Amino acid sequence: MTRFITGCATAALLAGCVTAQDAGSEIMAKGFVDPGMSVIAYEARCPANVAWSLAIHGGAGVMQRESMSAQTEADYRATLTDVMSSGRDMLNRGHSALDTAQHMIMGLEDDPKFNAGKGAVFSAARINEMDASIMDGRQRDAGAVSSVTVVRNPILAARAVLDYSRHVLLSGEGAEQFARSQGLTIVPREYFQTQRRRDQLEKKLAQKQAYNTPETRFGTVGAVVKDGCGDLAAATSTGGLTAKEFGRVGDTPIIGAGTYADNKYCAVSATGTGEYFIRGGISKLVCTRMEYIGEPLQTAMDYAIHTELDGLGGDGGIIGVGADGSVGFSFNTKGMYRGAATSTGVMRVEIFELNESGEDK
Ligand code: ASP
Repeated sequence: MTRFITGCATAALLAGCVTAQDAGSEIMAKGFVDPGMSVIAYEARCPANVAWSLAIHGGAGVMQRESMSAQTEADYRATLTDVMSSGRDMLNRGHSALDTAQHMIMGLEDDPKFNAGKGAVFSAARINEMDASIMDGRQRDAGAVSSVTVVRNPILAARAVLDYSRHVLLSGEGAEQFARSQGLTIVPREYFQTQRRRDQLEKKLAQKQAYNTPETRFGTVGAVVKDGCGDLAAATSTGGLTAKEFGRVGDTPIIGAGTYADNKYCAVSATGTGEYFIRGGISKLVCTRMEYIGEPLQTAMDYAIHTELDGLGGDGGIIGVGADGSVGFSFNTKGMYRGAATSTGVMRVEIFELNESGEDK
C-alpha cells in the first residue's frame, strides 16, 4: 500500500522509490517540485519496462485554433507532454497505475493553467471549491473529496480517503479535517486564486449566468493508466464550474460519473458539465457496455458521449484505457486538451477536433 511519507531520508530507504523532492530525477517533470510540496514515496511493484499505456486530459470546451495564440497552444502542449513523460518514466520503472495517475494529476493541479488545484475556477461564493477522485481497478477501491478549499493537492486527499478511510467520499470541512489528520499540505485559500479565474468569475456574475458556458470552461484534469502489472486506475480533479452555487458538487468526485476503473474492462476520466455526467453515469457506462455487450473501448466511449451524453443535452468528453491496453478519447465539444502515451513509443498531444485525415486541426 502506498504511504505518504514526510522526510526524504525515510523515502530514500524504500527500494525504487521516487520522491517529489527529487528535483533532478527524470521522473519529475519541470515545474512539479515546490518547496511546500509533501514528500511522497512511490514503491515500484510491477516489472520494469513491460507494456503499459496512459492518457490524460486537461478539460474540454470550445477550443479553436484561430482563437488560441501560438504561445498558449505551445504552453499547453509542453505541459501535457511533460506530465505524460513523468508518467512514462514511472511506468517504465514499474510503478503502479494508481501512483502514476495520482502523480500526473498532481503535476496538473500545481499548474495554474488548469482548473484544478492552483488556478481552479471560483464559485459564486468567490472561493475555490475543489473536487477530486481516484479509483483502483484491481478491487474497485475508490477515494474522493468534494468542496475542499485548503488542501493543496485535492487528489492526495482523495487518495488518502482510498487508502486510510472506510468511506469513499468525504466532503467540505470533514474532508479537510481528514486531510489534515493524514499530514497533507494545507495552504491558505489565496494559494489557489489567479487573476485570470477572478476575471472569469466577475464576468460570469455580471452576466448573471449561474454556470459557465463551454466558451469559458476549460481545465479539469484527468488521467487513466494501465501499468506493467496489467492493473488499471483513473483519477480526476477539478475546481468545477465558474460561479457554481456554494456547495455544488459535480461529477468529478462521483465514482461512475467522473471517474471509474475496473481491471476487467476499462478506466475512464471525464470532463464537461458535471450534472449530465452524473445523470448519465457516463464513466461507468463505458465499462458496462464493454462488459455486457462486448463493445471495444472506443465504441463504448463514443456511445457514452455521442448517444447518452448528447441525448441528455450535455457537453464534454472522456479519456479511457482498456484492459487490452487500448487508449480512447471521445468528446462532443470543439476540443479537449488531451494526450496519450504507450510503452511502444507513442507520445501524442491533441487539443482540437481531428480533421478527416485524423490530424489535430
Ligand atoms: N466536470 C466538471 C464539473 O462539472 C467541470 C469540467 O470538467 O469542466 O465540476
